[in-house]
Amino acid sequence: MEKATHQATKEHNATLALKTIYHSDPLSRADIARATGLTRTTVSDIVAELLDQGLVTEVGPGPTAVGKPPILVQFDPGCRQLICVDLGGSEFRAALVNAQGAMLRTASLPVEDRKGEDALLLVFQLVETLWTQVTAPLLGIGVGTPGPVDPDRGVIRMAVNRGWEDLDLKGRLEARFKVPIHVANDSHVAALAECAYGGHGRSPSLVLIKAGEGIGSGIILKGRLYAGEGFSAGEIGHLCVERGGLPCSCGNAGCLETVASVPALLLAAGARARSNPGSALAKTLAARGATLEVLLERFEEGDPQARSLIQDLGTHLGVAAASLAGILNIHRIVLSGAPASFGQACLDAMAAEMRARILLEQGREMEVVASTLGPDIVLQGACALVLRKELNLP
Ligand SMILES: [Zn+2]
Repeated sequence: MEKATHQATKEHNATLALKTIYHSDPLSRADIARATGLTRTTVSDIVAELLDQGLVTEVGPGPTAVGKPPILVQFDPGCRQLICVDLGGSEFRAALVNAQGAMLRTASLPVEDRKGEDALLLVFQLVETLWTQVTAPLLGIGVGTPGPVDPDRGVIRMAVNRGWEDLDLKGRLEARFKVPIHVANDSHVAALAECAYGGHGRSPSLVLIKAGEGIGSGIILKGRLYAGEGFSAGEIGHLCVERGGLPCSCGNAGCLETVASVPALLLAAGARARSNPGSALAKTLAARGATLEVLLERFEEGDPQARSLIQDLGTHLGVAAASLAGILNIHRIVLSGAPASFGQACLDAMAAEMRARILLEQGREMEVVASTLGPDIVLQGACALVLRKELNLP
């Protein structure tokens, strides 16, 4: 028992020192002792071990007022590499990244109508493409995938569009690649990315809403992901926001995805054009087709029809987000994906709807912001997932 406690303390101290080095400019051993409250001897032992593992390097002498200058150490981003995979879109994407999440190589493969084992073979093929390009010890493979995922076992409970049910993705990848594998829901992984790289401080609470072909969200409570008892916490895509609304793929009607996903937005744009046949929006859609790019262009030119569509989009997102923010009493809501590209107009509409639906007091503290992480958010999150599980970073 005493031995176990001693080991746990040792690991805790090592994590504390590594985190401090990871988040700082080059530091001396004395700086690390000051920042962590650990003794100089403990820090020296830990740094010796981290040097042995190649996780940190010595970068030369630092400044000193008197005496021998101390040797500074820093985290070595090239010490490990990771393979990150995003199975969320119409193409599977992967990246080889360094231990600070910088992308070194990327690869992608269109999914087309592949399902079940065929779709899984595509995942293997994608990982193998990057596997041949690895130039440092591989820390592991991280995967963000649609559907509820048991993150401890790495089992995808159900991903309808991929035809996967109770798929042991972790087991299948481990058997093939023999490195640590970590799998989680793609919106949950995106929330981890926002937590690690979104500039919200070390232990933020936030809800990350990811909208594209589908809509999901991830909940971070004081720096930790809340996955839910059935691993589908934050599943807002199928919250009903319009009773008696359009039928949804889940069998219900009026779900958020029927009014605020990209396909729903483009359908709404088509309907708006048909009922306003003389409008600039109708003419542009007739000439160039209903795509997100065309709609964004009309929106940026101040087209009143396009602006009204985005107002509706923000309002619908706000209805669902209000429930989450109100119940959890989380102040920061971060929007990523296609709606975020419409900028402040969408965020303002969303915030206004949320404030109208939650307690005045909660609304005052609330902020709705766009993620700055861009389209690679799931890849970055898969990196954060592996770093968290393997090194207790970032
Ligand atoms: Zn639904």
